[in-house]
Amino acid sequence: MSRNTDCIAEWFADLPQKRPFSFRAATTIGAGGTAPAALYPRSEAEFAETVARLEAQGIPFCVLGCGSNVLASDKGFGGAVIKTDRMETLRLLPQGIEAACGVRIARLLSFAAANHCGGLEFLAGIPASTGGAVFMNAGACGKFAAERVLSVRALYRGSVMEMTAEECAFSYKHSLFMDEPIYVLSAVFQTVCGDKQSILREIKRVLVRRSRLPRGKSMGCVFKNPSGCSAGELIEQAGLKGAFIGDAVVAREHANFILNRGGATASEIRSLIEHVRARVFENSAVTLEEEIRYIGEF
Ligand SMILES: Cc1cc2nc3c(=O)[nH]c(=O)nc-3n(C[C@H](O)[C@H](O)[C@H](O)COP(=O)(O)OP(=O)(O)OC[C@H]3O[C@@H](n4cnc5c(N)ncnc54)[C@H](O)[C@@H]3O)c2cc1C
Repeated sequence: MSRNTDCIAEWFADLPQKRPFSFRAATTIGAGGTAPAALYPRSEAEFAETVARLEAQGIPFCVLGCGSNVLASDKGFGGAVIKTDRMETLRLLPQGIEAACGVRIARLLSFAAANHCGGLEFLAGIPASTGGAVFMNAGACGKFAAERVLSVRALYRGSVMEMTAEECAFSYKHSLFMDEPIYVLSAVFQTVCGDKQSILREIKRVLVRRSRLPRGKSMGCVFKNPSGCSAGELIEQAGLKGAFIGDAVVAREHANFILNRGGATASEIRSLIEHVRARVFENSAVTLEEEIRYIGEF
């Protein structure tokens, strides 16, 4: 741990924090090392102040929502984690709903249904924070968060700015936030007026459909679908269902999922990802690209 990171607790005494922070405990795949500290800003102002202070002290940082699409190195991360869980504000607007970056999709959908706001049901069951869903342009069954995002409030070089959906440069499993140090503070989702019971029924229908997905510790889909085909099918065609390295295994129910069936290390999971990529290339001449994001050095 560097001298700089030793001081995090003292410099951020005014913020909720966790020291040390375990990626194994805080990510859905249940693997990875630790970071010296995680900081939990509760408002836009605290988020901006946290980033400004970390930058001023030269402390590297990463932002984490629900940790459902990340693989952190076994060596951990030598800086601070900004964990968005406490950014929890939800607001009903004439055009839809504004959700702070830490609002979980499940809570957003309950709020939407209670307020007769439809149109977001396709997101049901995705274990995401609002910030993570916007960053990843999360989606299911051919529908993506970007289709419902009207605007995003974001932090860029110390200033809070309002971005239109167009400015977020969304595309399949991609957003501008992946290319620039711009952090999602909140998003406004456009909704359509609907009947509460029908919205709840549709959420239930989506959840039932998703119940076929593999259960257990995972990151969801590991690879993006290459244009015109399914990564899961390519992996299956390469005969990789059930392939494993240590406790990391390619799921039999859906080959684009890698499960941690116990104590898989991040390096075992990463090795399995490389093995899958190599075998799929040999079998179909397609190079799969990860959807998941890495934290730390591999
Ligand atoms: C069982 C399971 C099922 C899944 N099903 C789906 C699915 O159907 N569709 C789908 O699209 N995905 C799915 N996923 C993947 C995952 O849930 C999504 O990608 C989700 O959007 C990630 O959100 P998160 O809050 O967990 O982000 P994290 O995993 O915490 O972070 C992901 C990335 O977003 C960045 N980030 C997070 N918050 C912010 C912020 N406020 N500002 C800037 N950057 C930020 C992080 O730095 C990181 O690079 C699934 C995952 C699991 C485990």
